[in-house]
Formats: sequence, C-alpha cells, structure tokens
Amino acid sequence: MKLPTCDDYDPNSISFEQALRHIEEDLQPIVSQEQVAIREAVDRVLAEDVLARINVPAYVNSAMDGYAVHSDDLPKERHVQLTMVGVSFAGKPFAEVVAKGQCVRIFTGAMLPIGTDTVIMQEHVTVQGDQITITTGNQIGQHVRAIGEDLTVGQTISGRGRLLSPADIGLLASQGIPEVKVKRRLRVAFFSTGDELCAIGKIPDIGQIYDSNRYVLYTALTQLGVEIMDMGIVRDVPAELEQAFLVAAKENDAIITSGGVSVGDADYVTEILRRIGQINFWKIAVKPGRPLTFGKIQQAAFFGLPGNPVSAINTFYQFVQPALRRLMGQDSRKPVQFEVTCASNLTKRPGRLEFQRGILKHNDNQELVVYSTGKQGPGILSSMSQANCFIVLPIDCGNVAVGNKVMVEPFNRLV
Ligand code: AMP
Ligand code: MG
Repeated sequence: MKLPTCDDYDPNSISFEQALRHIEEDLQPIVSQEQVAIREAVDRVLAEDVLARINVPAYVNSAMDGYAVHSDDLPKERHVQLTMVGVSFAGKPFAEVVAKGQCVRIFTGAMLPIGTDTVIMQEHVTVQGDQITITTGNQIGQHVRAIGEDLTVGQTISGRGRLLSPADIGLLASQGIPEVKVKRRLRVAFFSTGDELCAIGKIPDIGQIYDSNRYVLYTALTQLGVEIMDMGIVRDVPAELEQAFLVAAKENDAIITSGGVSVGDADYVTEILRRIGQINFWKIAVKPGRPLTFGKIQQAAFFGLPGNPVSAINTFYQFVQPALRRLMGQDSRKPVQFEVTCASNLTKRPGRLEFQRGILKHNDNQELVVYSTGKQGPGILSSMSQANCFIVLPIDCGNVAVGNKVMVEPFNRLV
C-alpha cells in the first residue's frame, strides 16, 4: 500500500514545460486570413510580412526649430554672420538654392533647402533683421533627420505572426499602407459545468453559488480578440454535457469549460471527452490548476479548466492563453520573469510548480519587492483580483522566508 506523503509530488503528472510543449505540438495555427483596413487590424495577427515601401523620412528634414546653414559656414572660432534668405516650413519647403553665407529659417519637420546640411537651434543664434549670428560649438549635420533613418525601402516593418499594436498601425500608416492581411478571428465556445452554479441575475438556491468563471472567460477571451460563443451553464448530466460538447465542436476552433474535471462522482467531462473526442493530457504538476484537461473534440481544441476560480484563471492564463495565441498564428512569447526580494513568508510544499499571487511594489526604502496576497487557496478569487503578478515557485522549492529572492511574473492585461 502506498502511504500518502506530505509533499505534492505525483508520478502520473507531467511538468509545466512538457504540457506547453504538447500544446505547441498538437495545435496548428489556423490558415484562413482576410484583408482588413489598418484601423481594424489592431489586436489582430498579421498574416504576411509587410515591407517598407518608402523611406522614412523620405527627405532630409529638420529635427528642431532654428536655422538651416551649410556646414562650411560654421565658425571655427568666434562667430559668423549669415544672411537669412527665406523660410522652410513643414509642408512648405524653401524652393531655392541657399548660397554660401546665407541661411534659411527652418521649422521641425521642414525639408532642408538645397545648399544646407546643418541646423542651428533658434536658442543658439542672435537675430538682427535678416542677419543672424552663430558662434562655435555646433556640429556638422546636427539636428538633421537623414533619409531612411527610421525605415528604409524593402526593410520588414512588421512580420507575419505579429499581434498588431496601435504603434504598429501607426507604422503602417506612415508607409501609406491602407490594408493588411490578418488571420481570421478565432472562434471559441465556452460554458460552465456544475449543478451548484447559478447565473447572475437569478437567486441562488440553498447550496448554490454564482458562476464566476464564465465571466472571467467572457472578458479574457474578448480581450484576446476572439469570437466567442457563451453557452451558459450546463448541468452535471452526461447527456446534456455531451450535447453541449457536440454543439460547441461544430463551428469553433476551441472549446473551454470549467468545472467537472476532477475525480468526483459528478465529474463527467473527462469521461465524455474520452468517448467522443480525445484526451492528450490532464494532470500537470502545477498549482493552482490540477487537473487541466487538454484534448480534441473533432477539429476543435478542448480545454477543461478546473472549477475552482483561482485554478481556472491560472490554467487559462498559463496554458489556454498561449494555446489560443498559437492557434491564432501569433508568434510565441515567453512571459517576462525576474527576481525580487520576497517581503512575506510563503508556504509551499515541494512537488509542483506554483503560481502564488503577489503584489509587486516599492517598499519604504524604494526597493521593488513582492508581497503575498495572503491566503492562497484555489477558491480565494480575491487573491487574483488583488495581485498584480505571479510569484513563481519551482517544483522542488519549499517554504520561502522573508528576505529570500523569488521569481515574479507581472500579469498581462488578461487578469
Ligand atoms: P469542480 O472542478 O467542478 O469539482 O469544482 C471545484 C470547485 O469550484 C467547487 O467548489 C465548485 O463549486 C467551484 N466552481 C466550479 N465551477 C465554478 C464556476 N463556474 N464559478 C465559480 N465556482 C465554480
Ligand atoms: Mg463541478
């Protein structure tokens, strides 16, 4: 007989990294794409490499308000007087050639007139009528933006697989590009399972709780930019669950459920999945979050999240999010993690990789440290809401004392 131990090791579970690798291998990015106006392309995944069509800047221009001069006229010692022969505005260049001994009043973004190559800041000149005096200390070519210093023709400005940000849209606009090819939106169906769940707006019976997971999924999926199908609450009745799975699989790329994946009597999800689909794994050495079921129903990827609210969010965040990003065709990105001093005592048993909830902030000495949110149970949803980062504790790590270093992973905007 195997006696229970006081650690968290489970020989039947796979590691966090193995689970991520399985997901990566099992899921192929969708291929369909569509052409959209760049304004509609934000938060979409680029389906082509976009090359620069024009140099930016396209012409030599001034980075300052001042005077455009020829560098030959810069004084080696004392000062020099130049005659101002015109003005170059942004969008209204000075069309004539500037001769030696002459200069042109110039504004930021305005084209440098022929015969000039250097801009003197207006604060560094003395003006008397059309005569300006400049002194030493100016560099040849200063305050001038060169052709192509931002982008040169033919350079990749945005690569396939990139999730487009507002700055990316600006970059496309700076090239005069009106439309781009993006991957079609992913379609994701989700529902909650459990006889104890009550939808908000209804009055819970004795022993019922409000369904919160579905609201997390609704909002997180919306932020991810996928098309959602909210299928509500499905009761712990095998026939109803099976029916819901089949409906969800019909038109969606992925299906996400919460609850019903543990080994309790009323947990039918894995059983049905085995029958009508395929299970790729379900036990991962991660806390909170065991068990997470990952598999397929027809062509749709299936994620069965644990019911406990913190476990559901954590598994969504750590596994489903990268999986959906892969399906969307987005480049994979490792989350940023870094080490800080822990300002709380943490309780942990060796055996699982743990994502505890932390608050990253400056202490009274202005050092960046991390505090625990307190109780770490998988049902303490307020811990997720208070936190701004995960404290990532490796499998073999035990309790952590104040003053020790720990890894933290700041939340992205999904939580
Ligand atoms: P289960 O995974 O179905 O065994 O559920 C584990 C725990 O999470 C139980 O306490 C459930 O009541 C709770 N739970 C399950 N689904 C939800 C949900 N959608 N919203 C809030 N709590 C849930
Ligand atoms: Mg349940």
